[in-house]
Amino acid sequence: MKLLEDRIISEGRVKPGDVLKVDSFINHRMDIQLFNEMGREWKRIFDGVPINKILTIEASGIGIAAIAAQYFNASVVFAKKTRTINLDGELYVSSVESFTHQCTYSVVVSKKFIVPSDNILIIDDFLANGSAVTALMDIIGQAGASLAGVGIAIEKGYMPGGRLLRDMGIRVESLAIIDSMDPVSGNITFRRN
Ligand code: 5GP
Repeated sequence: MKLLEDRIISEGRVKPGDVLKVDSFINHRMDIQLFNEMGREWKRIFDGVPINKILTIEASGIGIAAIAAQYFNASVVFAKKTRTINLDGELYVSSVESFTHQCTYSVVVSKKFIVPSDNILIIDDFLANGSAVTALMDIIGQAGASLAGVGIAIEKGYMPGGRLLRDMGIRVESLAIIDSMDPVSGNITFRRN
């Protein structure tokens, strides 16, 4: 999606540790007009696919998912990050290896909010190793619900997450796929289909 790629080129900053900072339009300040175009694009891509719920992960996925949900007429559930788990049987629990913070944390979703009849689109800001998406898929599986696909804003295409998921037969639709990014020059290249 050219609009997103242009913003990444003009405002994205490549940080040591293979982190792309997009604080000025996604991760801190949220550009709602851009989110709106992203939502419209996912709707175009997933047109005709039954989707009644969007599942994302706090915090950065929430804004994107909320705007996209308006196009799908879907509700949004976000997995909460937690250190302590009250295992009272009311929650679906999975774990994520954080790419940006290099630690493992739990994510939980109340059993009330995902049911077997749900057709779920997962949305997140980044795809790197695939740990966040895999945890959300695990929760969908625990609930006996169906995964309709995965919508990602920025995929780091040189990392294994995208291939891992697509090799499992999952439909992953990323709006920008980065092929390389160099922390020294700041150069970013995108995959062209
Ligand atoms: P994964 O679980 O696929 O390894 O990483 C995806 C998660 O890590 C996303 O939810 C996102 O928050 C974070 N992440 C991964 N790479 C980046 C990055 O380059 N920049 C930012 N801002 N977040 C990232």
